[in-house]
Order: sequence, then structure tokens, then C-alpha cells
Amino acid sequence: MKDTFKHQGLRQQLVKVVAAKGITNEKVLKAIGKIPRHLFMDSGFLDHAYQDKAFPIGADQTISQPYTVAFQTELLQVTSGDKVLEIGTGSGYQTAVLCELGAKVYSIERQQELFKKTSKFLPKLGYRAKKLIFGDGYIGLPEEAPFDSIIVTAGAPFVPKPLLSQLKEDGGRLVIPVGDEVQVMTLFIRKGKKEFEQHEFGEFRFVPLLEDKN
Ligand code: SAH
Repeated sequence: MKDTFKHQGLRQQLVKVVAAKGITNEKVLKAIGKIPRHLFMDSGFLDHAYQDKAFPIGADQTISQPYTVAFQTELLQVTSGDKVLEIGTGSGYQTAVLCELGAKVYSIERQQELFKKTSKFLPKLGYRAKKLIFGDGYIGLPEEAPFDSIIVTAGAPFVPKPLLSQLKEDGGRLVIPVGDEVQVMTLFIRKGKKEFEQHEFGEFRFVPLLEDKN
């Protein structure tokens, strides 16, 4: 679990790359500059950790591209103390970004192997999510609702209704990539019981949001 000057230097380069692609939120950039992404990846990929690319993390899953993580996080507009639900814990990198922003993070992962690995790993780095859950993100986490925001980190073939209904009614935000092969990054802002604003932000590619646990 080493974080060397070399890693730190590469990380500052990555921050510049992500900023050059249009990310302006200082807190998000600071989080990317701080979190040792190489430790979230299998050792074979260490050299790639600070390229702006997605990489395999086992169980057929990937750690999202840093730009994508930053883009989604920026859309969430997290303020310290916000209650945030993440669907797709994966490596825990996005979870760590949310923790850096001061969010109370609840995160659901459907793959038991990843759930176990990440549950052990995150606290070692000092990142304490409120709750990591082995479960199905399509259902969300009704017992902890409402959330200030919800982030889905896998490609959703459709927008799960439970996630919309678990947003707080005055301005809760859902950031979700919607589509099959390619996904459109979509932001829903809840304005009332049945009122939602919808904004779209271009195409991204994610591993699919799958139903049920595994
Ligand atoms: N946020 C992660 C991204 C991992 S990729 C990171 O920063 O590394 C997406 C993750 O979503 C995978 O780990 C996958 O297993 C998980 N996933 C897919 N379908 C899911 C579902 N229905 N509920 C919860 N997690 C799911």
C-alpha cells in the first residue's frame, strides 16, 4: 500500500488532463489529486492507474475512467453532509471521491466478490462509507431514503422508478447513464412529488447494470 512521489506526480498530471477535458469543480479535482487510484487496481495495472482510462478490476467489472467519475460527481453537486446513494460500488474509487467531498455515502454492489474486497479495502485507506451493501441497486435503499443525490455507475437500460422515488422532493439529484450499448448521461432533478426535470449530457460507455445479486 505504497503511495510514492512518483504516484503523486502522475496524479497531478491526471488532474490536469481531467481539468483540460472540462471539469471545473475544485473540490472534485482536489479529490482526484488526493486519492491513490493505483491502490484500487490489480497490481498488473499499476502503471496505468494515472491514465484517464477505465480498467478491469476483476469479476468482469471496471474502475470507471477518472474523467467520467469527475463528470458524474460534478453533476451531483455534493455539499458536505449530503446523504448520497451510489449504485455499483465496484473498486470503491467513486465512493472514495464522495467521501472526500464530505458526503455520507451508502453504496450498493451486486457482486459478492467485489463487495467483500472493497468493504475490507476502503477503511484501510481511511474511507468510511456510512454503509456498504451487498444487494441489487435497481431497488435502491428505501429504508435510508430520501437521499440528496443518487449516482449510478453502471449503464442502466431504463431508469429504475425506485431510485427516482428515493430522491428528496426539493431538489434531489439522480445522475444515471441510460442506454444499452451506449449510454446517455442523464440528470434528473426532483422538483416535487411527481415532478422531475431531465437534462442530458452526451454519450458514455459503462458496464451494464444487471438485475439481482450474484
Ligand atoms: N463506482 C465503481 C464503478 C464500477 S463498474 C468504481 O469506481 O470502481 C459498475 C459496478 O456496478 C460493478 O462493480 C458492477 O458489479 C456493479 N453493478 C452492476 N449492476 C448492479 C446492480 N444492479 N446493483 C448494484 N451494483 C451493480
